[in-house]
Amino acid sequence: MKLKIVQAGDPVLRQQSQSLSADEIKSASIRQLIDLMRETMRDTPGVGLAAPQVGTPIQLAVIEDRLEYMKDLSAEQLRERQRSPVDFHVIINPTISILGETSAEFFEGCLSIAGFAALVRRGVNVRVDCLNEQAEPVTIEAQGWYARILQHEIDHLTGTLYVDRMETRSFMTAENLNRVWKSRTIRQVRSALGIDV
Ligand code: ZN
Repeated sequence: MKLKIVQAGDPVLRQQSQSLSADEIKSASIRQLIDLMRETMRDTPGVGLAAPQVGTPIQLAVIEDRLEYMKDLSAEQLRERQRSPVDFHVIINPTISILGETSAEFFEGCLSIAGFAALVRRGVNVRVDCLNEQAEPVTIEAQGWYARILQHEIDHLTGTLYVDRMETRSFMTAENLNRVWKSRTIRQVRSALGIDV
């Protein structure tokens, strides 16, 4: 069964989500929600899905970046994005710290703003303290694309969307991103879109 992914404009995407207690995390209803969110993320497919995106304003997100999602990216694109597979996992009640000053800008999309993308600058190194699906404390240190996914998903839990952080002139359909811009460098894209010129 695939859950319905709510789209921009639904109030649930702009709410602060509620934290979960250890008992709630271990409950049958949360276990079922995690199973359904994993299935929905894989079916869509996506690399992350936050509970508000399926209409549930709780501080929980699922993440998984699979090798098969990287087949359309060149070795050079994977290298500059610092993107490599991330196993399925659940983050609950997360707090995130951006480590250091290093940031990177790439196109990013969201399953709740389906069919669009934009350039978003994100920290390259992050630390996340959270609970896993057994309600155990976990610290994640992440770099590159995985750090971007964590920032994007944790933003959802505070009612923030990538459009709040994007380079507005770069907002475009995913179709046009693939048709016109995909193989250009970010520097070329910025120049052609009239950003910083
Ligand atoms: Zn999203």
